[in-house]
Amino acid sequence: MPGDRKNYEVAIVGGGISGTALLYTLSNYTNIQRIVLIEKNPEVALGNSHKTSNSQTLHFGDIETNYTFAKAQKVKKAASLVKNYILKNDPQQKIYSRYHKMVLAIGDEQIEELKTRYQEFQTLFPNLKLLTKEEIELFEPGVVKHRPVDEEIIALFSEEGYTIDFQKLAQSFLQKSINNSQKTIDLMMETKVKHLEQQKEAYCIYTNRGEIAAKVVVFTTGAYSLLFAKSLGYGQDYALLNVAGSFYLAPGILNGKVYTVQLKEIPFAAIHGDAEVHDRSKTRFGPTAKVTPLLEPYKYTTIFDYVKTAGLSIKALLVFLKILSQKAILKYIIKNFLYDVPFLGKRLFLKEVQKIVPSLQLKDIQLARGYGGIRPQIVNLKTQRLELGEAKIIGENILFNITPSPGASTCLQNAEQDTEKIVSFLGSEYKFAKDQFWQDLGDEQL
Ligand SMILES: Cc1cc2nc3c(=O)[nH]c(=O)nc-3n(C[C@H](O)[C@H](O)[C@H](O)COP(=O)(O)OP(=O)(O)OC[C@H]3O[C@@H](n4cnc5c(N)ncnc54)[C@H](O)[C@@H]3O)c2cc1C
Repeated sequence: MPGDRKNYEVAIVGGGISGTALLYTLSNYTNIQRIVLIEKNPEVALGNSHKTSNSQTLHFGDIETNYTFAKAQKVKKAASLVKNYILKNDPQQKIYSRYHKMVLAIGDEQIEELKTRYQEFQTLFPNLKLLTKEEIELFEPGVVKHRPVDEEIIALFSEEGYTIDFQKLAQSFLQKSINNSQKTIDLMMETKVKHLEQQKEAYCIYTNRGEIAAKVVVFTTGAYSLLFAKSLGYGQDYALLNVAGSFYLAPGILNGKVYTVQLKEIPFAAIHGDAEVHDRSKTRFGPTAKVTPLLEPYKYTTIFDYVKTAGLSIKALLVFLKILSQKAILKYIIKNFLYDVPFLGKRLFLKEVQKIVPSLQLKDIQLARGYGGIRPQIVNLKTQRLELGEAKIIGENILFNITPSPGASTCLQNAEQDTEKIVSFLGSEYKFAKDQFWQDLGDEQL
């Protein structure tokens, strides 16, 4: 080991919302003294956590109709940590905006489904209300205007919705970590991890700016986490089906978030309309869901990394085929591909938008150029299923987080779980003040 190599107890690779939430938790709630955050970009959260990459929603599970009760229970607990963090630390609302939110049911079948869901979920979300068409109009006139008189709609509604600029949240986590001056918290920006190897007492991390040693390493690099896991022999049972999501912008026609009922077999949110985080003059519709062989939007060279990450064995290809040939998924994928076809695409997308705001016309919507991100959906090769939500691969003194939606909403809960694991890796002299963490950020009603 070269003598000038810096040594840390923990190295976090990836400075998105997950990496910065972990840095915040480690630096404020543990006695770990030497931590480094390594990020390849010049700033934190320029990837999926950037405000133009994702839907900016703090997901609780109340209006996400593809979440089961159990999943909603988990997500609510996790999202409450973020909610309590912003309420405490952002009195001027620079990180977030508060809007109402609703999920719309159109036609008899969806109305029945939503009414049943309301009965079932009331205990978990006592503030949810069922709105009639007339009541919807009071909050969202654009949803009712020009809708056929005989088209029945109802909505599940909550006053409490949070639209978050997750990059600003990441910057806040960072600030609150480095303010803790008794510790060594190093930030290595514009530093790309190339590979790593496990040595006797630590991992040696090779970057474009030299080598670093760390007893424990945590990857919070989105899709790349699986690439690094595989390079060390972990995560062989996982492959990735990457799903790009882009958005359309329209003039500010909605006052809050309006979701539509989601297809049960589909792990991504149905197209929804959201007021932009700090700009009510814009409404954003999306995201679309297009299967892609890239790890980052518009970066075509990442196709090579995707091939390595996906582990494109015959077995993986057969599992992909099995998943993609399921009727509901196939239909959904084809439809989303068509959204990109010139002339036809925008017209097809408009049909989805008009389910939410019937009065919008072609001239009102524009593809939001440069917006969008890629959701690394996890395929479990053992169960041959597409998994919902995040995955964590645990190795020897190393963790790998893969974070599709709602990974930004669950960042602090994920950080809490990682912190517990990290402390146990480091040994009995290391402590995590978990009670304090929950006391500061937890929701007593949970
Ligand atoms: C279209 C879309 C809509 C979404 N909507 C929502 C939503 O409304 N609500 C929600 O909660 N979630 C949403 N998500 C999911 C959410 O955006 C992600 O779960 C979250 O941003 C993941 O954060 P992360 O920090 O794990 O990853 P990222 O934000 O991707 O950060 C990973 C970081 O690792 C860095 N990195 C990668 N490789 C290296 C390397 N070799 N060396 C050093 N650094 C490296 C990258 O530069 C990046 O900064 C959405 C995602 C998409 C794509």
